[in-house]
Amino acid sequence: MAAVETIFALASAAGRAGVAVVRVSGSDAGRALAALAGTLPPPRIASLRTLTHKNIMIDRALVLWFPAPHSFTGEDVAEFQLHGGRAVREALFAALAELGLKPAGPGEFSRRAVEHGQLDLTRAEAIADLVDAETPAQLRQALRQYDGALAALYEGWRAALIAALSRAEAAIDFSDDGVGEAEFAAARSKAKEIIQAIEMHLDDSGRGEALREGLRLAIVGPPNAGKSSLINALARRDAAIVSEIPGTTRDVIELRLNLGGYLVQVADTAGLRETVDAIEAEGVRRARAQAGASDLVLLLRDGTVPYTDHSEIAPDLVVWNKSDLPGFQKKDGISLSLKSGEGLASLIATLTAMVAERLETKGETPALTRPRHRLGLGQALESLRHSLAAPADHPELFAEDLRLALRAIGRITGRVDVEELLDSVFRDFCIGK
Ligand code: GDP
Repeated sequence: MAAVETIFALASAAGRAGVAVVRVSGSDAGRALAALAGTLPPPRIASLRTLTHKNIMIDRALVLWFPAPHSFTGEDVAEFQLHGGRAVREALFAALAELGLKPAGPGEFSRRAVEHGQLDLTRAEAIADLVDAETPAQLRQALRQYDGALAALYEGWRAALIAALSRAEAAIDFSDDGVGEAEFAAARSKAKEIIQAIEMHLDDSGRGEALREGLRLAIVGPPNAGKSSLINALARRDAAIVSEIPGTTRDVIELRLNLGGYLVQVADTAGLRETVDAIEAEGVRRARAQAGASDLVLLLRDGTVPYTDHSEIAPDLVVWNKSDLPGFQKKDGISLSLKSGEGLASLIATLTAMVAERLETKGETPALTRPRHRLGLGQALESLRHSLAAPADHPELFAEDLRLALRAIGRITGRVDVEELLDSVFRDFCIGK
């Protein structure tokens, strides 16, 4: 294995700022810190030092020293809190490079933290989510995951699987003397319990993922109903708009709204109208596709014109617009005038409640937040279901499936520890042998 390099990176955002934080991790961190700051400061105590390299002053800065293993990465870590100017940062980077250190790659600090057992993979992912969080709900979810809620859940299943596997191993071992049957039955019932728990966890309509990535809201309706006006009205509320990014398809702008603390992505099909006028079928097809790809569908209709909807879209919410006009007829759903603003606040309140209903997890169990978790759990589930098909006189087939399930869950948290498995298996295995 190649020697692990000592890495450095700007931990704060690039650009001019009051303070910039530069992190260094690896076995040369202490040597570099002492070389620049004169001596090593006491561990974990901020010290003000003059940084110099080759007799040229870089800055007066706060420095911190975190000797291994009590650091974020588990390695020796040095941290510099410099003045946040470009020349200052570059002088420090140049000095660190001359001292033999290497610029870090993306995620390298977190990766080292995982490799040294400081973090499991789900907590490392939570750090990325924390940094990316734009709304309070995303922040809450990321913090919960960073706190280890998902890790604890998955590690709990792993532990239960390891226990079931030990019993299966005992069943294999004592198959001749009657103990085996009871052990196998106990292992099977444990496997059934875990199956149930995983099924419940997976059956969450993708809440955690949608909360993390933003709930997709489609605003559909006939031409001239006021779809663009509604999207503009939502976007114009100062507190609501997060950002506007041009989508991948031409004409589609994706708005990112902070709706009551939840991130909501609204696809604005501003260019759809012309298409609808020209080829009705194409417009319907597009609206249908959009609705199908969304978590929540709002059908906006003009309350002054009779209209038969042929799109076969089943909306979650129907809104009747143009309540300010004399010909307006109220029907089931919400009345709205985008012209006068009447009904807009209540529409937003209703929408926010619907979004919260879709995104908030029920009960205590934390939501899975990435397709990667779903995939791993799906594989575990498949192996576990298959394990139950093993005949009573073949506990070894059952055990093999349990091992596969164990590995699938271990991949989610980044723990595929054979030693741990063997320890547990042999501890229970050796009764009287
Ligand atoms: P879209 O085709 O569904 O995107 O509809 P638009 O947002 O472009 O609106 C179509 C027309 O209806 C525009 O001329 C708007 O000014 C008008 N409009 C939208 N909302 C209202 C409303 O609440 N009252 C009235 N009187 N006109 C509206």
